[in-house]
Amino acid sequence: MLKNDRLDQWDRENFFHPSTHLAQFARGEAPNRIVTGGHGCHIEDRDGKRLLDGFAGLYCVNVGYGRPEIAEAIATQAKELAYYHAYVGHGTEASITLSKMVLDRAPDHMSKVYFGLSGSDANETNIKLVWYYNNILGRPEKKKIISRWRGYHGSGLMTGSLTGLELFHKKFDLPLAQVLHTEAPYFYRRPDPAMDEAAFVAHCVSELEALIDREGADTIAAFIGEPVLGTGGIVPPPAGYWDAIQEVLAKHDILLIADEVVTGFGRLGSMMGSTHYGLKPDLITIAKGLTSAYAPLSGSIVSDKMWKVLEQGTDENGPIGHGWTYSAHPVGAAAGVANLQLIDDLNLVQNAGEVGAYLNAAMTDALAGHAHVGEVRGEGLLCAVELVKGREGPAFFDPADKVGAKVAGALMERGVIGRAMPQGDILGFAPPFCLTRAEADEIAGKTAQAVAEVLG
Ligand code: PMP
Repeated sequence: MLKNDRLDQWDRENFFHPSTHLAQFARGEAPNRIVTGGHGCHIEDRDGKRLLDGFAGLYCVNVGYGRPEIAEAIATQAKELAYYHAYVGHGTEASITLSKMVLDRAPDHMSKVYFGLSGSDANETNIKLVWYYNNILGRPEKKKIISRWRGYHGSGLMTGSLTGLELFHKKFDLPLAQVLHTEAPYFYRRPDPAMDEAAFVAHCVSELEALIDREGADTIAAFIGEPVLGTGGIVPPPAGYWDAIQEVLAKHDILLIADEVVTGFGRLGSMMGSTHYGLKPDLITIAKGLTSAYAPLSGSIVSDKMWKVLEQGTDENGPIGHGWTYSAHPVGAAAGVANLQLIDDLNLVQNAGEVGAYLNAAMTDALAGHAHVGEVRGEGLLCAVELVKGREGPAFFDPADKVGAKVAGALMERGVIGRAMPQGDILGFAPPFCLTRAEADEIAGKTAQAVAEVLG
């Protein structure tokens, strides 16, 4: 099927792959995989190997692969008008329609959506809007941003700083000085095993309060968090966490940014993670699920409260000095419209909730008793398996042993893709919303076989 028999050579010689061990790859010590096709929950590579994609690409191909409705919308838009910009009041039918569809799906207090291209640039936009907001309100010192350890918010300069994972900071001179990190709401890895959930939530709150006291509330602009920690380990929050955190933020006049790049548009079995957990954010970041990755598109949804101040800012200062060439790109917007329509037509949010509960139950049945499985956890169509050296304590493996990556490799050999999350031996799953129960059983059954092969 592939015409070029030099792709492997060209790949090693020319292609700078993201999140890859560059030296090993260039030397041919790390495998490459050339992906040629996808249908439903499966992808296929050039060797004809068919894989059940338990991670929907990078938790983004939410409607599944090979949807002609979206492909045709993209082709039609590209033929009619591949591009026009959105500066100084320009728009297209697709971008304007998508803005309405996004606001219809967002919490009621949200007002407008700015379109970008990636989750990272949407979060960069959000931080700029927060800074602009506080400058317009005459409090230029209120600028620091609090994120959580293990949060993931992108890999730009600011967003890589917000990301609370060591790999994204090391040797890049990050995090930037305006970024602070606080405790991750990761109950399984709580500092004291004697804490129950309520005590752990109280601990997270007191850590946040202490940080705010130390820095001074008048220097802190915003708190950013994913409704469910994603790349940091797929960790749903303990009960009461978001209510308690929001109380602290309100007390100190600190804005809330809900990063819904993973949770937006159905992954939790609710349209938005904010409504799922009762968040009232000032900004919402969206990306992946907005187009199911059929084209790059992201967004920053702005609340009424912030919008009023942004308007005031432009009355005082002229047009907002922020915009990308490709903001609201018509081809991306056409993909977004077709994607959100398809999610409704096929009732995929409901299916994500139902099949997600089924997958989590099947994974728990298959693995919960295993001596090296500390926890199976999830929410909606997110599921994680925490691999441990011993359940007492718990005791964790030496990261150098790469146990998570080995289990993911053994699973791949069996035809299923799971993701070894970057920090801790955690195997993550976030399949497309069209997953069937039979496919969920296959993921759970083969994960149990892979764990048994690597860990006995
Ligand atoms: N926020 C979250 C919650 C994410 O999971 C990601 C990507 N995994 C991003 C932001 C960054 O998105 P992108 O990779 O499109 O820049």
